[in-house]
Amino acid sequence: MTAHPTEDRTTLAVLIAALPTGPLAANCYVLAPAPDGDCVIVDPGQEAVEQVDKVLSEHGLRPVAVLLTHGHFDHVWSAGEVCARHGVPVHLHPEDRGLLTEPGRGVDPGFAAQLSALLGPGPYTEPDDLVEVSGGDVLTLAGMDLTVEHTPGHTPGSVVYTVTTKDGVPVMFAGDLVFAGSIGRTDFPGGDHEAMSRSLADAVLSRPDQTRILPGHGPATTVGRERATNPYLRDIAG
Ligand SMILES: [Zn+2]
Ligand SMILES: [Zn+2]
Repeated sequence: MTAHPTEDRTTLAVLIAALPTGPLAANCYVLAPAPDGDCVIVDPGQEAVEQVDKVLSEHGLRPVAVLLTHGHFDHVWSAGEVCARHGVPVHLHPEDRGLLTEPGRGVDPGFAAQLSALLGPGPYTEPDDLVEVSGGDVLTLAGMDLTVEHTPGHTPGSVVYTVTTKDGVPVMFAGDLVFAGSIGRTDFPGGDHEAMSRSLADAVLSRPDQTRILPGHGPATTVGRERATNPYLRDIAG
């Protein structure tokens, strides 16, 4: 699938390239405080490697870490390869760690069969260097402070990472917690609707309206826009 990186120019001091990858168009993000320096890669999905390399060479960036919002295959597909190519650690919450070696565990049995046809028979392996993250962690990477919030519901080990740009705008890498106009599904194994509601209240609705949301699928949005228009957030108290 062809895709063109769209630079997020509204966030000024943080350079962000969004790269939809694979048949499910999972968004991979490359973020850096400036060109010609270190960067972080969020959710390198299927076919991400070539696109990521292009962004890296265009902007003179050197990855120092991979961050995974959760363990679903469409978000983690290229994590091992990126990790090995650049010699950098992959960050993931421990409760989704098992999905790296058993991707079918995170989906229903019918989809798991399709998945093994798509992915090949395995065995699937963990990246060489895996760092477990937990809620409350602050990761200092590429000169940026990224806070980790544990947001279970879509998967048990879903997290969001938030960085604040130099002009004071919080930017959240939301994975499959919330999308423009929708939320992540909770009907896969490990999904939990109640936990999802709590995560949405704590990690999304409690934030200032200006907070930018960069979701795991689809276009960027803001907390304010979702608070006002997202039907799935209407009944959840912030
Ligand atoms: Zn997912
Ligand atoms: Zn996804």
